[in-house]
Amino acid sequence: MANFHVPPYAPPAAIFNTVPGYAGTMSGGGAMAAPPAASIHTPLYAPPAANMFNIVPGYEGTAAGGGGAYIPPPPPSVPMPVPEQAPSQPDWHIPSISEDRAREAFAAYVSSKCCYSSDPVKDGVITNMESFNTYRYRLETFLESRSTEWSQEPYTGQPVDGGVQPAPGPWLIAAQPPAFFQEHKQTIKVPFTSSVKNCDLCQTKGKKPCTTCNRTGKRNCTSCNGSGNRESGQHCVNCRGTGRKNCLKCSGSGSCQCDTCHGKGKLLIFINLNIKWSIEKDDFVAQDSSGLKVEKLEEVSGKELFKEAQYMVYPLRGFPDVSVAQASERLVKDHQGKYAQTSRILQQRQTIELIPITKVNYKWKGNPYVYYVFGNEFKVKAVDYPDQCCCSVM
Ligand SMILES: [Zn+2]
Ligand SMILES: [Zn+2]
Ligand SMILES: [Zn+2]
Repeated sequence: MANFHVPPYAPPAAIFNTVPGYAGTMSGGGAMAAPPAASIHTPLYAPPAANMFNIVPGYEGTAAGGGGAYIPPPPPSVPMPVPEQAPSQPDWHIPSISEDRAREAFAAYVSSKCCYSSDPVKDGVITNMESFNTYRYRLETFLESRSTEWSQEPYTGQPVDGGVQPAPGPWLIAAQPPAFFQEHKQTIKVPFTSSVKNCDLCQTKGKKPCTTCNRTGKRNCTSCNGSGNRESGQHCVNCRGTGRKNCLKCSGSGSCQCDTCHGKGKLLIFINLNIKWSIEKDDFVAQDSSGLKVEKLEEVSGKELFKEAQYMVYPLRGFPDVSVAQASERLVKDHQGKYAQTSRILQQRQTIELIPITKVNYKWKGNPYVYYVFGNEFKVKAVDYPDQCCCSVM
C-alpha cells in the first residue's frame, strides 16, 4: 500500500454556506452590496477555495473588507407627501450698524494684529459707510444609508442560524434611528446568515509559530549577548552560562495563540449590516458687490431669516434675491436626485441667513482707506491697513 500523506487540514470547497438573499457577501468588512455576485472571488483573506462565501439571497453584492456601494432602498411604501409651498415671506429687515460699532470692531481687529499701529483707528475719520448685506442659503439632507459586509469572530459555541430561515432583506431589518440631523452609526448582525468555518490562518490549530524567536522558544541572553560568559570570564548568572533564555512572547513554547480565532481554531462567519445616519449639506452665498471675498463669509454667522424642515422640502419661491431662489431650486433637485438613489432621505432642512456686510471708508493722513465689518460677530477685514510696522513692503 502506498503511504499517503494526509494533510492535517483539508479545506472544503465552499467554506461559507449559501444564505438566501446574501449571495456574494464577502468576508472582512465593508463592501457595500451593489454589484450582484460580482465580487465573490476576491475576499480579503486568502481563500482556500474559489467560492469562499455563501450566496445569501437579497445580499448578493455583499463583500468582505470594504469598498462596495450602498444598498438602494426599496421605493417608499406610502406615497410621498405633497410638498408645501414656502410660507409667505417675512418683512425683509436690513439691519445696519452705527459708526461707533464699526469703530469699536475696527479697534479690536487692529489690536489683535501685532504689527498694526492703532493710530489710524484713533485718528482716522470715517467718511462713508455702505451696506452690502447678502444672503446665505443652506440645504441639509438627513440620510439613512445601509451596506453589508461579511464578518467573522472566534467561534465559542454561539448559536449558528444560517439557512434556518431566509435572511430578512437589508432594508427590512429594524433599527433605532437617532433624532433628525444627528449623525450616528449602528451595526446589526443579520439574522440567519451565520455559519462555522475553520480558521485558515492557523489551519484549525489555534496557534501559529512565534515570530519573535522564530519558533525556537529561545532567545539570546541580553546580559552576555549569548556567550554565556561575563567579561570577567565568569559564567553569566542571568542565563546560567547557557547564553539562551526562554522567549517571553511565547513563554518558550515556540508558538503563539492565533489572533484571528483567539486559539479556537474555528470562526463564526456572518453578515453585518452597517447603518449610517448622516447629513449632506450645501451652501450658496448670493453675490454682493462689496469687494469682500466670499470665503470670508464662511467664518461668520448671519441673522436667520427663514428656516423650514420637513420630509422633502420644496424649492423656495418668491424670495427677493432671484439667485437664492434659483440656488434653492437647483440644490433641492440635486439632493433629491443624488441621495435618493443610494440612501433613504429622512428629512430635509433649508435656511436663509442674512449676513450683514458694512464697507467703511475712512481717511487717515489725507489718504482714503477701507475696511469691512461683517457677520453677527462683527468680524473685520482691512484690505489696505496703512500703518503696519513690520509687514509693509517699502
Ligand atoms: Zn517565541
Ligand atoms: Zn547570559
Ligand atoms: Zn486561527
